Amino acid sequence: MACAHFENTCVTNYLGTANGYRPMNYFPVFFDLKALKVLVVGGGEVALRKVMLLERTGAAITLVAPDIHPELLARADAGTIKTETREFIPPDLEGARLVIVATSRRAVNRWIATLSEARGIPVNVVDDREASRFIVPAIIDRDPVMVAVSTGGASPVLARRLRERLETLIPGKIGEFARWLHALRRPARRLRDTAARRRFFEELVDGAAARRFAGGDAAGAQSIARQLLSQMQAAPRPAGEVMLVGAGPGDPELLTLKALRALQDADVILHDRLVSQAILDLARRDAAQICVGKAAGSNGCTQEEINALLIEHARKGQRVVRLKGGDPFIFGRGGEELEALARAQIPFSVVPGVTAAAGCAAYAGIPLTHREHAHSVTFVAGHSGKDGNEPDWRALAQPATTAVFYMGLARLPHIAERLMAHGAATDLPAALIARGTLPNQRVVTGTLATIGDLASRENLESPTLLVVGEVVSLHASLSWFGAAAPEGSSLPLTRSA
Ligand code: SAH
Repeated sequence: MACAHFENTCVTNYLGTANGYRPMNYFPVFFDLKALKVLVVGGGEVALRKVMLLERTGAAITLVAPDIHPELLARADAGTIKTETREFIPPDLEGARLVIVATSRRAVNRWIATLSEARGIPVNVVDDREASRFIVPAIIDRDPVMVAVSTGGASPVLARRLRERLETLIPGKIGEFARWLHALRRPARRLRDTAARRRFFEELVDGAAARRFAGGDAAGAQSIARQLLSQMQAAPRPAGEVMLVGAGPGDPELLTLKALRALQDADVILHDRLVSQAILDLARRDAAQICVGKAAGSNGCTQEEINALLIEHARKGQRVVRLKGGDPFIFGRGGEELEALARAQIPFSVVPGVTAAAGCAAYAGIPLTHREHAHSVTFVAGHSGKDGNEPDWRALAQPATTAVFYMGLARLPHIAERLMAHGAATDLPAALIARGTLPNQRVVTGTLATIGDLASRENLESPTLLVVGEVVSLHASLSWFGAAAPEGSSLPLTRSA
């Protein structure tokens, strides 16, 4: 491929984060402790709670403390842990692979932490994040399924609330279901291809088998699995497909459920630069992400190269998501890409998205139509067409209409001048919405006569949308986003009644 497309390396996007590099204070891992020595220092209730969890891992637990809780002593009698009733001494660290410190004396805790660090043994000091090399998450335990939640120590209360929310979302039988799936891994090896195996399990997890299982009919689930496996063995490799997906204007919560699902099922995602990192973060972790958009000063892919990439990946049998800002059929050249796919006989489907006009207008408090101000709305490409064609300025300048210009920033003076030349009032309200629906959204309002100067004075950058019409006057009273959040919409965690 001649075009400079980058896997996972679109330089920056509108959220201002560099793709690929975001700091991570803690690396989440699950640690197999079977038969490994774990040292617990401290003998109170806190130590007891830690020991109760650790015991289940099969670790060889040694606990040291001058005073030891009777329940811990009982455990020592039963032989599940080893206790030393005395003060900690440095040789206790010998051979330990993990240390948990829970004495009530901060200085002692820190001393033990320093000694552990010096020996390269991961240490956690309960309630002392700074002294800890690792922290312990809040967990949802449906063995073997384990969900761990952490706020990086920022707020244990928030982590607990999140855990409670997740508890209600995760089916009780999920542990059993996971064990059942595990048992199917051996028969599934009959499918040679790893992609085919993944599809087999996705079908089970997403389809009727999972519902049977949840309803208590494990035998029914088993027979579905058996049938599916023999079907998949008989059938040749599945054909690849392309989903043309609208990502909306920027706020990830404006994705449709279908778009989210497509992102989570994708093998490869070809996206524009307009698509925010927050949205790409929702994709399946091991999906290849290819930025085919033009970055300022670099050569992005031509339309022909993008078409060729789509076809190439689909022909490999992959599930390709072509992710576009807003709606793919509104100034997105989605139609051209589908025509190329149709010619190549690649199966495709389309997931609409919230187009910039709808998203930006909503978040700017500008209703696009209104019984008193506008009976129609027109979406216009602000740059001139391939052939230099101009839009129908006379129609756009009519009263009681709203005109929304995409890609209009560069030609703003021309647009305003043409509208006025075709009879629009010089004081007709106009708004520019930059980075609509994103946290750094900016809205600048003026009139046809002033909007050009305002844009350069305010130094607005792309992507920016221009809305022209009387409806813009409503912004003054209906603006809500970025101002104080309305009652009840603040914390994403707030329980609905
Ligand atoms: N298919 C997209 C439009 C692509 S054209 C859609 O349906 O929204 C690109 C233009 O869309 C930009 O120049 C800008 O005018 C507009 N746009 C897209 N996202 C935007 C956003 N978050 N804020 C303001 N304008 C946006």
